[in-house]
Amino acid sequence: MMAAAVSLLAQSPGSPRGAQAAGAVMAAQAPTTSAPAPEETEVWEPIPPVVTPGATWAAPPSDAIVLFDGKNLNEWVLTRDKSPANWIVADGVVTVNKAGGNIETRQTFKDYQLHIEWKIPESITGSGQARGNSGVFLASTGPGDDGYELQVLDSYQNKTYVNGMGGSIYKQSIPLVNPGRKPGEWQSYDVVWTAPEFNGDGSLKSPAYVTVFFNGVLVQNHFELKGQTLYRGKPFYKAYETAPIKLQAHGDKSEPISFRNIWVRELK
Ligand code: MG
Repeated sequence: MMAAAVSLLAQSPGSPRGAQAAGAVMAAQAPTTSAPAPEETEVWEPIPPVVTPGATWAAPPSDAIVLFDGKNLNEWVLTRDKSPANWIVADGVVTVNKAGGNIETRQTFKDYQLHIEWKIPESITGSGQARGNSGVFLASTGPGDDGYELQVLDSYQNKTYVNGMGGSIYKQSIPLVNPGRKPGEWQSYDVVWTAPEFNGDGSLKSPAYVTVFFNGVLVQNHFELKGQTLYRGKPFYKAYETAPIKLQAHGDKSEPISFRNIWVRELK
């Protein structure tokens, strides 16, 4: 490696050799070590795989798993009994069926990048947590709301506890800012999820981390989770290997919200 670097230098015009000859007096006094060759710190492999990006920011890159492309819910099941998801698909979007309950992906994931878009209906009513409440569970670790929830809620001039507003990690982390759009406008989450890791005895080896961009604006910056997100009480970790991604059918009385353009890229 060094030999190759030295021979490259010898062939290169304007190498330190010429400079050394001109500055022979200086060289006699200066230490003989020369600056490291730039080649010493060049890394040539492994070569990153080529990925074709989506035509727009919302479209899946070539290596993404498409979870919802506007046509059907083939990739989703009801959390309750794993039967086919019965939310309403129409006009390229899926709308929450509150009576149906939470839905989750058939496939399970560990670390990933997720893109998902959601819209609070323009006709939304209610206030606080009862106004367009849903959620993206970044790992569904059991029935109901078990797991790690990135809150979905109307955050446009809708007062609630700030660790439960849109862009929050429910009851754990307040979003850095509120970039929420008005009801009736599509909004996006782009998420990087680093799953927690567990030892053989179920104890925590390393915590979960999450980074979230809300409408392209950073709202969670590598936040370290304290465990699962809970409605009541203090968070705790529960061991899992891989888990589905889950969407929440929240029981409040406000009009159901919609989702579209859902894709994930597994990180290995
Ligand atoms: Mg929620």
